[in-house]
Amino acid sequence: MRPIIGITCDYDWEKGIFQLKPGYVEGIHRCGGLPFIIPPLYGDTVYKGINQIIKQLDGLLLSGGQDVHPHYFGEAPHASIGRVNPYRDEMELALCRYAVKSGIPVFGICRGLQLLNIALGGDVYQDLKAQLEDKHLICHDQPAPKWFGFHDVHIKEGSRLHKILGTSTLPTNSFHHQAVREPAPQLEVVGTTADGVIEALELNHHPFIIGVQWHPECMLDDPFMLKLFQAFVDSAIEASDSKH
Ligand code: MN
Repeated sequence: MRPIIGITCDYDWEKGIFQLKPGYVEGIHRCGGLPFIIPPLYGDTVYKGINQIIKQLDGLLLSGGQDVHPHYFGEAPHASIGRVNPYRDEMELALCRYAVKSGIPVFGICRGLQLLNIALGGDVYQDLKAQLEDKHLICHDQPAPKWFGFHDVHIKEGSRLHKILGTSTLPTNSFHHQAVREPAPQLEVVGTTADGVIEALELNHHPFIIGVQWHPECMLDDPFMLKLFQAFVDSAIEASDSKH
């Protein structure tokens, strides 16, 4: 049986449409998973329904998107914060916490990494350039096609991510104005750029909790990015086998 991978998606409240870039679905599908898109739900029903949703899933993919509201890590919105989506925040934080607690594999991409970190007690720079202005930042908003590996990420040796990828230097794409500031206590930093910006986190002693700041779903022709999706789907298969 193919493992069911829940993928969070966006809600555009101005256009009134749910939306998700196809790379997330394609990456999961190509690696043998069954993609299942989860819409943001808002209100009391969110909390009542979360455990039911998680019980149907073998893995949870937290997709990219807008900034998480800084209220969730005790800050007021910075002047340079981006678009914030309350429809997604409530639902996804609850989903993420419940999935981690339930031992279900979680893969966070971009916003998904930041949300994972915030859900477990960490925080983010609301705007890298504004809050790290005295530091020599490299470019994290690439003026290049989205499939292009624009900057290198140093992958920590001995980490799960390193075992999956089999490399210490990974060229990745980069389009984010936020980044992890303080990692959550349980999470380990396993990927950084030359300027020290955190690009990957993982949780030990769990079937699979990995978050990456880049967008592997835009780089599916790159074998390293497929390895990431494959490792996630494989761990969902294992988690599913141990459930039945
Ligand atoms: Mn970057």
